[in-house]
Amino acid sequence: MAFIKEVAHQAVSLLPQVLMAPLLLIPFIVAEQIWPARGRPRFKDYGLNVLISTSTAFLVLPLGMTVAAGGAWLGESLPWSRLSVSFETLSAVPYAGGFLKIVAMIAVPLFIHDLWFYWAHRIEHAVPFLWEFHKLHHSDERLNCATFGRDHFLQALWIAVFPTFTLGLVFDLSLKEAGQAALYSNLFLIFLSMFYHSAIRVHVPWLDRILVTPQVHRIHHSTDPQHYNANFADALPLFDILFGTYRLPRKGEFPATGLGEADFEVRNLWTAQAVPVAAACRRLRKEQTRARTH
Ligand SMILES: [Zn+2]
Ligand SMILES: [Zn+2]
Repeated sequence: MAFIKEVAHQAVSLLPQVLMAPLLLIPFIVAEQIWPARGRPRFKDYGLNVLISTSTAFLVLPLGMTVAAGGAWLGESLPWSRLSVSFETLSAVPYAGGFLKIVAMIAVPLFIHDLWFYWAHRIEHAVPFLWEFHKLHHSDERLNCATFGRDHFLQALWIAVFPTFTLGLVFDLSLKEAGQAALYSNLFLIFLSMFYHSAIRVHVPWLDRILVTPQVHRIHHSTDPQHYNANFADALPLFDILFGTYRLPRKGEFPATGLGEADFEVRNLWTAQAVPVAAACRRLRKEQTRARTH
C-alpha cells in the first residue's frame, strides 16, 4: 500500500517535467520546419512521439522505483565501504571553481551513463528479443526532435537497470550532490538528444567527433544497410571511435530513416507499447520450441 502511495506521489511530481518537455521542443520544431533534412515532420509525427514518451515516463515509474529500492537495499548491506566522492572539492580551485564544479556535475555522470548506454544499445541491436522493444525507437520514418523520447517503457527500464544497480555500490555521494548532478546532466542530455534527433539540415563537422550531432545520429537511424550498427553513443562519439563503430557523416548526407522492409507501423499508443511486448513473447516462445526440438 505504501509503495502504491509512493508511486502516485512520484507520478504527480513527474507531471511538471512531462508538461514542460514539449515546450523545450519548440525551437527545434521551428528549425526543422525552416531547414528540413528531408521530408518535413508533420504535427501528427510530433504528437505521437510526445504521447509515447509521456506514457513511457509513467509506465516505467513503478518498475524503476522497484529497481532503485533494490539498488538502495544492496548499497546498505555491502561488505565493502563505498568510495566517498564530492564535487565540492573542485570549488576550491581559484576563479574557475564554481564553473568547474558544474562542468564536472554534467560531464562525469554523462561519461558513466554513455559508457553503459553504448553497450546496452549495441546489445539491443544484436539480441533479437531486446530488438523487439528498441524497434519502436527506430520505426520513425520522419525522424524529428520528439523522437528522443520514443522509447518502449521496458527498453527505458533496461537502460536504467545497470547504473541504478552499480553506481550506488561503488560511490557514496551525498543525496543533494547526486540529485544536483543527475538534474544537470539529465537536462543537458535531454537537450542534446532533442537536438541530435531533430531533422534539421545542419552540418557541424567540428562537433561530429565531440558530441553526437543530427547527422551522426541520423546515420544510426538510416535504412541504408551500409549504415547498420554504427553510431550507438547517446552523447559522446568517443565510445564509437574507441570500440570501432563510428561512422563520420559526409557533407549533405541525410539518409532516409525507419525500419525499411521489416517495418511495423506504429499508428497509436496501443501499437507502440503493446505490439513489442507481444512480438518479444512470440520470439521467446519460438526460441523455446526450437531449443526443445533440437
Ligand atoms: Zn538503436
Ligand atoms: Zn535515436
